[in-house]
Amino acid sequence: MGSVLLGLNQQIKWPNYCVLCNKEATDWSAASKTNLTNFKYYVVAVKYTTQTYNLTFPVCTKHKRLCDLLYKPFDFISLSGSLVFGLILWAIFFALFHLIFRLFGLETIAKDLIDILPVVLAVGFVLFYYVYAIFLHPVQIAYWSENSITISIRNKKYFNDFKLLNRLT
Ligand SMILES: [Zn+2]
Repeated sequence: MGSVLLGLNQQIKWPNYCVLCNKEATDWSAASKTNLTNFKYYVVAVKYTTQTYNLTFPVCTKHKRLCDLLYKPFDFISLSGSLVFGLILWAIFFALFHLIFRLFGLETIAKDLIDILPVVLAVGFVLFYYVYAIFLHPVQIAYWSENSITISIRNKKYFNDFKLLNRLT
């Protein structure tokens, strides 16, 4: 993984292939990062404004879906999406544990376990998904301000081609 510093208004050139494989790029996916620009704390409430920088990068048809999926939970809006995802997981685990414990005739002895375990597993899976998605992000905005942006590219060959194209040393 390598990082580069670019001017915020600089035209960014991308190699003409997917960030995840060497196939021809046919589509774009986007990474974004939200900065807190103003934060005011009042006695009963807080007021804040944010600014989001979107960075689009080329992907092939195959990886378009994967990339969109990887970046989705990091939008503010899809926090509710992960809640739904967590609830569905919980329902599945809950039903599954009920079935398994009943099969062994243990549903009365292990009642607490049947209640708690699905919650723990569902929360665990959602958290794991977040961490895993961050780890798999092919392109990340490490930092951005009014003048500059620092982006990280995971793919080494891609990173080198990117630097050449944008005349960075
Ligand atoms: Zn690809």
